Amino acid sequence: MITVLESINLSAQYLAQKGIESSRINAELLLADILCCKRLDLYLSFDKPLGNQEIEKYRDYIRRRGNFEPLQYITGKVDFYGIELKVNSSVLIPRPETELLVENILNALSRDKESTILDIGCGSGNITIALAVNLAFSKFICTDTSDDALNVAKENAEKYFVAGRVKFEKHNILKEELNYFPQFDIIVSNPPYVSREDFKSLQKEIREFEPKSAVTDNSDGYTFFREISRKSLKKLKDGGKLFFEVAEGQSKGVTEIMKENNFKNITVIKDYQNIDRIIFGEMK
Ligand code: GLN
Repeated sequence: MITVLESINLSAQYLAQKGIESSRINAELLLADILCCKRLDLYLSFDKPLGNQEIEKYRDYIRRRGNFEPLQYITGKVDFYGIELKVNSSVLIPRPETELLVENILNALSRDKESTILDIGCGSGNITIALAVNLAFSKFICTDTSDDALNVAKENAEKYFVAGRVKFEKHNILKEELNYFPQFDIIVSNPPYVSREDFKSLQKEIREFEPKSAVTDNSDGYTFFREISRKSLKKLKDGGKLFFEVAEGQSKGVTEIMKENNFKNITVIKDYQNIDRIIFGEMK
């Protein structure tokens, strides 16, 4: 017989030996997922024995985490802007910084108007769905190059009853124009902005498990900013806005690109670590 506390201790030790950061929290979160409770609820049941199936599942989860598979792919879910989204290895795991992108778009729009929004490289659909649940009258087009990602995004949109207001389109912004799309109030993208050089020094979890095409442009990191800025120009309504998330150190370069493409009132927003993270500009 093994109790909740004993299994957490053993797992945390194993993960630490494998080099997993915050090994105890990881061990606790994985067990909480199996027992369908909150992490802190585990503290109330430390002496509870685990069943055989629970032990087996926990072993498998811990083994996977020990191989550096991200926790969110193991549990299959992630919290983002107050909603719980399904994720798997075909989509980038939504990050807390991206919540700031959602927040700033919400600030730019009136909640009781009908707005049209294009989300380029939607991945799990996190940006669109978080916006859609807060903007009851808005309509969206979500694009991605990956069918698997679009399927995850659709499932997430259905879960939050916003699928009726979202169109999903397979589209490659680097290779295709946006000609057949309508005009938008907002175009948003959190594109693959890691440069080929920086990709090499990312955590193993990202390098080996997240979709590479969602993380890096395999070039200088600016490919998508250039292409999206250029193509958005003709697709924004008068006064429409283009929103990007950027990597640390990219805000100057991206501001230049937006200026070259005639965007006005370019604004840079810092994240909670004081890093320039969100940029938006207006089409006039
Ligand atoms: N739009 C998704 C996100 O913000 C996916 C982004 C991507 O795949 N680069 O997390």
